[in-house]
Amino acid sequence: MSNLKTVLVTGSTSGIGEGIAKHFAALGHNIILNGFGDSTAIEKLRSDIAEQFGVKVRYYGADMSKVAEIEEMIKQVEAEFGSIDILVNNAGIQQVSPVENFPVDKWDAILAINMSASFHTIRCALPKMKEKGWGRIINIASAHALVASPYKSAYVTAKHGIAGLTKTVALETATFGITMNAICPGYVWTPLVQKQIPETAKTRGITEEQVINDVMLLAQPTKKFVTIEQVAALAGFLASDIAASITGSMIPIDGGWTAQ
Ligand code: NAD
Repeated sequence: MSNLKTVLVTGSTSGIGEGIAKHFAALGHNIILNGFGDSTAIEKLRSDIAEQFGVKVRYYGADMSKVAEIEEMIKQVEAEFGSIDILVNNAGIQQVSPVENFPVDKWDAILAINMSASFHTIRCALPKMKEKGWGRIINIASAHALVASPYKSAYVTAKHGIAGLTKTVALETATFGITMNAICPGYVWTPLVQKQIPETAKTRGITEEQVINDVMLLAQPTKKFVTIEQVAALAGFLASDIAASITGSMIPIDGGWTAQ
């Protein structure tokens, strides 16, 4: 197995996914970016990573809630690079709302993007990984794959679903040189978290400052947000050869949240 890998990171035009893509580029791997955003900003991100790290960087705008677009992206990546060696399922959205008022379209979108998309990328990318006898699948789950919080019914359901998928596929791939794990971050300071602060303040009837201190950081004994770089470094470790015996694991990186 050559050291040069092809890495697909879904939802890598922002936040944690962008950090993971840069981490793998710094390790010298070719990168497939995916996600939404302003096309000029995405092209700048793509060319900056390629130039800074001297690797190939491609961008696919596949909507991870659309099965045909996921299938087409994987087909095209495999046509150019042969296979996806490291698959990072990271794209995700959030919605904060009591269950009885939860917008039905948001429920459907969260289950599609945060859960079913991983099933589709995995089933499409796995045959080539098996052929090669090497692969790494890393799901960016959440502390919410292990515990719940009120007003996040769809997100918590989807992330718990990812836990089941992670364990099941790890068993199916265990003898093929492929590992599958889930990283379970606590609160990381990204646009996804920033956007839910006003939503949570409204739903709970508290100020935005109270959301940060009394909801988010209250959950984390360290009283600090997890950093993007910390999550990216953990993904890098899971993708390394020395991590070959770690599979089917749900790995918290949450400042002690789920130890309570
Ligand atoms: P973010 O909003 O910064 O990034 C989300 C990315 O997903 C963006 O690139 C966006 O364009 C992409 N995306 C959204 N919908 C998409 C779709 N339909 N198709 C393709 N791409 C789509 O958020 P983030 O905080 O970096 O979150 C990344 C992942 O980490 C998510 O799965 C999230 O649930 C998980 N996570 C985040 C935190 C946190 O505190 N930020 C904690 C635990 C887990």
